[in-house]
Amino acid sequence: MHMSEQNTMNTHPEDFIEVKNLVKYYPVLGGVMRRVIAWVKAVDDVSFTIKRGETLGLVGESGCGKTTVGHTMLGLIPHTSGSVLFDGVDIFKLSPDELKTMRRNLQIVFQDPYSSLDPRLPIGESIAEGLRIHKIGDNQERFNQVMEVLRKVGLEDYHAMRYPHEFSGGQRQRIGIARALIMKPKFILLDEPVSALDVSIQSQVLNILRDLQSEFGLTYLFVAHNLAVVEHISDRVAVMYVGKVVEIASREDLFDHQLHPYTQALMSAIPIPNPRLKRERTILAGDVPSPLNPPSGCRFHPRCPIAQPNCAVDEPLLRELRPGHQVACHYAEKFA
Ligand code: SF4
Repeated sequence: MHMSEQNTMNTHPEDFIEVKNLVKYYPVLGGVMRRVIAWVKAVDDVSFTIKRGETLGLVGESGCGKTTVGHTMLGLIPHTSGSVLFDGVDIFKLSPDELKTMRRNLQIVFQDPYSSLDPRLPIGESIAEGLRIHKIGDNQERFNQVMEVLRKVGLEDYHAMRYPHEFSGGQRQRIGIARALIMKPKFILLDEPVSALDVSIQSQVLNILRDLQSEFGLTYLFVAHNLAVVEHISDRVAVMYVGKVVEIASREDLFDHQLHPYTQALMSAIPIPNPRLKRERTILAGDVPSPLNPPSGCRFHPRCPIAQPNCAVDEPLLRELRPGHQVACHYAEKFA
């Protein structure tokens, strides 16, 4: 049976990606017998959709599980439970061969592209690596495609012969994008792609990503630890806290009306470019809790400025308070 027949499930045609109740726990081994003594709940029942051609920003502090969501979605690390549909195909039900074929459509750009480039290879060869692995084209066709994607990301033909150490951070990120783009993907996981770059370079890379998206109709999941980075590229934004999505909304609605106290705190940390305007910064008490032993009830309750006694007991579920705007907080009406 063909892959798409075997694993296709009913899906809303607009939703290119559907992540349903995704869970990723890591076992903690202990004792002489190295038995499982606890679980790190890195991703704990996360659901969202991404429409075709859309960018979903996935934001949260380090350790919140956002990168694990991305890597689990692509099958790069095994999931614990839940499902991920790409164009109606459940990626977790594919055989290894089917997954390999599917991966051509699903690419990733890492925060540090240098680590994924072989220092001994000219970057033209690194960019063509995916084509070689999938046995796409002959040498001449691969060469032509390398030249084409180099130009698309704003590099020159001669760069193909240069080695990774000869490039700046921004150029290396362009190479990372070229490596993904050459596979003609439908979806790219952008895993903190500009976090290591200077602000001036960040906007250049973001502009390239936006241009490529409109030219090729790409769908993006843009993972970042900072709301400011995703503001100009996302259509919708999901905010994660200790393994859970706590708020998800269109970019406009999220930036205008944050309904979750955690999102409000993240927003208050974004500097306003006008020095005459000041934003009142919310400094959260305490540290981000460990996903090994997350707080009971609402995971945010030990740090929440408006927590009530029931917040430590009852877990708030995501619910829609404004059209298309979901929040997991018992008291979000206060801000609606
Ligand atoms: Fe704060 Fe309670 Fe809302 Fe959690 S549920 S964010 S602790 S008010």
